[in-house]
Amino acid sequence: MTPTPTTGLEALPLRPELRGRTPYGAPQLQVTHRLNTNENPHPLPAELLASLGEALGHAALELNRYPDRDAVALRSDLAAYLSRGGEHVEPAQVWAANGSNEVLQQVLQAFGGAGRTALGFTPSYSMHPIISAGTGTAWADGHRRADFTIDPAAAVAQVRELRPDVVFVTSPNNPTGTAVALQTITELYDATSYGHGRAGVLVVDEAYAEFARTGTPSALTLLPGRPRLLVSRTMSKAFGMAGLRLGYLAADPAVVDALQLVRLPYHLSSLTQAAARAALAHTDALLATVDAVKEQRDRIVAALPALGLTSVPSDANFVLFGRFADASAAWRALLEHDVLVRDVGIPGWLRVTAGTPAETDAFLTALGEVAPDHR
Ligand code: PMP
Repeated sequence: MTPTPTTGLEALPLRPELRGRTPYGAPQLQVTHRLNTNENPHPLPAELLASLGEALGHAALELNRYPDRDAVALRSDLAAYLSRGGEHVEPAQVWAANGSNEVLQQVLQAFGGAGRTALGFTPSYSMHPIISAGTGTAWADGHRRADFTIDPAAAVAQVRELRPDVVFVTSPNNPTGTAVALQTITELYDATSYGHGRAGVLVVDEAYAEFARTGTPSALTLLPGRPRLLVSRTMSKAFGMAGLRLGYLAADPAVVDALQLVRLPYHLSSLTQAAARAALAHTDALLATVDAVKEQRDRIVAALPALGLTSVPSDANFVLFGRFADASAAWRALLEHDVLVRDVGIPGWLRVTAGTPAETDAFLTALGEVAPDHR
């Protein structure tokens, strides 16, 4: 039983910048079709389940000991995975933590903080400003065009004017699905060099990189020669392991050294490290679901015009769709049809995660009933 609070939040000596804020909160509701948190709905392959059991059993034998603080073996496996695309990533360039949220928090602890500023191009991942607030970093909203793409000239001008210590670019962007051109990323990177020894770091949040359409390159290709470029990834989406909590980052080895100054000792448990390594040994089987998910994404996009709706071009495992007269009302109507999507607070638009073919069927059927009253 939850004890009755003896005081209110407002009566506590909370840091002023946290007052009035609400926690990150995608609703976790008991709904048949949960298409609101961009998870991969496919169950883990049987072959992985067997090796997971074995790896965890093995790790359990040593649970009386602290884990490898530097997660050397795991970082080496992650480097090998990132090098599959042709780029060469060394283990010393890789850092891992409990979800990319923790990686991003460590980035802000090391490069943001009191008296410093982070800039992101909104609408984007809502945790970037929340983690900034949590680390005492001031937040600045960057602009996007009406079609949710980033205008490189305007973005560069904003960076030059604000001189942020940390710049976030989410590509593919959540919640719009928009990929950012490498040219824009290089221009933004160059803009974060402010002269007189001052510079910012540029974080490219690539949580959804594996779902990109053919020909959309990763910012990993830009790492050589750019010591202040950080590319973050996660096993929560394409790998279908959101419950594992494993995110990682590739950057110059000096960045990894910087993150080690702020990480808690033994932050990645032995069980997490063992499970992530077992999963990475089955990369091909895990990523086999990516094409199936992309197919459902493209199916959703293709079906929308017949319902009088449209979408934003997506390189991710979700689709921002609209336009609705009142997106919150449309969200509630879909929920009444047992389909949970995400109201991301952009007037006229909702976001749906691409899942299994059956989930797409359920979503499109529900939307067919809801759309006429809500367009
Ligand atoms: N970045 C983006 C853009 C995301 O959408 C998410 C998850 N919603 C994350 C990072 C964090 O993912 P995780 O902590 O599960 O790795």
